Formats: sequence, structure tokens, C-alpha cells
Amino acid sequence: MIKYVPEMTSVVIEEIPDRVTLAVDISNCQGNCVGCHSPFLKEDVGEELTEEIIDRLVKENFGVNCFLFLGEGNDQRTLIRLADHVRSIGLEVALYSGRKDVEKDLYLTFDYVKIGPYMEHFGPLDSRTTNQRLYKVTHDTSCKPDYRLTDLTSRFWHKGIDPLREE
Ligand code: SF4
Repeated sequence: MIKYVPEMTSVVIEEIPDRVTLAVDISNCQGNCVGCHSPFLKEDVGEELTEEIIDRLVKENFGVNCFLFLGEGNDQRTLIRLADHVRSIGLEVALYSGRKDVEKDLYLTFDYVKIGPYMEHFGPLDSRTTNQRLYKVTHDTSCKPDYRLTDLTSRFWHKGIDPLREE
């Protein structure tokens, strides 16, 4: 099961370049970032996120063209199923992971993937010294490897984003 925190759901324009993004905070985080900005997201809090709830959220926020999972939770199979559902209804789908890297299955599922634990001394995504990376994933099953990563991180270095949104 994947859980999200309903009251933190919001539409954002900075997290994914050139996209109007509906962002949901996922709980049961398995990360261990030093200086974690949202320790409560490591707890089993919030409500189950389902295909029906995604449909409702998208309907209530007409005009969004991307859906962002802020965190991975603790159930990758369900996370992938929900991400597949987002793509099936015509939106791009993004993942902010707090891990150093993610499995191929996640790159094959998501259109955008952010990796890297939050490390205060390197700074968040809008810091030129950040250890974090945001990739655009291009899926191409006709060649090997069957996806390509384009590093978008430098797009964040000319504008401020809310560091509290960093995973
Ligand atoms: S990924 Fe986010 S919620 Fe999880 S430990 Fe790191 S900062 Fe905290």
C-alpha cells in the first residue's frame, strides 16, 4: 500500500521544469537523510493512495499535466502500478526519491526521476553544489538501454525553489 498526506497535496510549477504538477507527499519513507525536513513522512501516516483517488485529484485540479510522487513509500510494486495509471490517463509522472539511485524498473516507469538524499552541506536542487539530480527519462524500447537520462538539474540554478519540498 502507498499512503499520502492529503492536506499536503498541492499544485506546483517549480519542481518539474515546464510542467504544471500535482504533487502528493508519500509517507512510510525508507530514507535516512541527515537533517530530514519532514521526519513525520517516515511514519505510517496519511491515507491510502489509489487509482480512484488519483483520478479525483486530477479532476479537481484541471489543467495539471504532471503528477509527482514526493517520496517512494515502502511498496514499490504498488508505486509502479499507480504511476502506470497516471500515464494511462495522459499525464506525465514524476518521482522524487531520496535514494542515491533507483532501480531500472523505476526509470522505465517514470518520466522524471530525482535522486540523491538531502544533504544539508551540499544543498538542495537549486544549489550548484547539490548532490541531487533531476533526470528527464526518455523511453525507447527500440534500442539498448531502453531509456535515456537527460540531466535537468542545472535548470534549477537560476531560480529559487522551496527547499522544504526537497526529498
Ligand atoms: S527522503 Fe525526504 S522524508 Fe525521507 S528521510 Fe530523506 S528528507 Fe526525510
